[in-house]
Amino acid sequence: MSFKSLGLSKALLDAVSKQGYTSPSPIQQKAIPLILERKDILASAQTGTGKTAGFTLPMLQILSQGQPLRKRPIRALVLTPTRELAAQVHSNVKSYSEFLDIRSTVIFGGVNQRPQVATLRNGVDILVATPGRLLDLQNQGLLSLSNIEILVLDEADEMMGALHTEVETIFKEIPKTTRTLLFTATMPGVIKQLVQNYLSKNAVTIEADMATIGHQGILHQYTVVEPIEKLDVLLHFLYAREGQKGIIFCKTKAAVNK
Ligand code: AMP
Repeated sequence: MSFKSLGLSKALLDAVSKQGYTSPSPIQQKAIPLILERKDILASAQTGTGKTAGFTLPMLQILSQGQPLRKRPIRALVLTPTRELAAQVHSNVKSYSEFLDIRSTVIFGGVNQRPQVATLRNGVDILVATPGRLLDLQNQGLLSLSNIEILVLDEADEMMGALHTEVETIFKEIPKTTRTLLFTATMPGVIKQLVQNYLSKNAVTIEADMATIGHQGILHQYTVVEPIEKLDVLLHFLYAREGQKGIIFCKTKAAVNK
């Protein structure tokens, strides 16, 4: 299957081929036509399946049809649980919209809000945001959610943990006519509840194959240890690989410092 057969415009096909993608991934094959048909979707898809292009490409196509609105109100909102993911999604939005007259920006907490507010003032069609900073700026009257046509929840299961209240508030603030595209790796009760409360009754459920496209050739291994042994085992592992490079992810600031 080709990207062209999914009904994408030339500007988007050019952007896709500039990325070097030759054919759509399974989640893209399923999601793109449904989103172009203006359906709400509930997609089970992990990172690495190509889900970001799966929602960004059709979203860009919908927003680029017709004249841009004069004041450029925010028409599409992508919510992500972390700033890192927000930045990554926005970088994808930028690449795929290279040949379109679409403006986008990203906002997240932990940094000065002033540059973010300045960009918002100029008008953006697509906003990628973490929920906390979004509501913060909305409460200060610095952005409006009243023109949102498309809402994307990326990694919704991650968001419904700590950011449950914020997500619910955002759903209450956006217009009732907003279409929702929900991407999640797992399907806990809170997600089912969210789907029932806020997605259209005609929402379509789709699943990505477990095979991922972006991170092949990585071997995953794990070791079970007592918490008290963890640091020793880790240090042993690192000393055994002196001269190599790596990244260690931790849950808390304290653990990172340690
Ligand atoms: P994601 O699951 O959205 O995080 O995407 C995983 C990786 O796959 C990213 O690096 C994308 O640039 C890449 N990607 C997305 N769609 C395709 C495609 N159709 N063919 C090849 N790579 C892709």
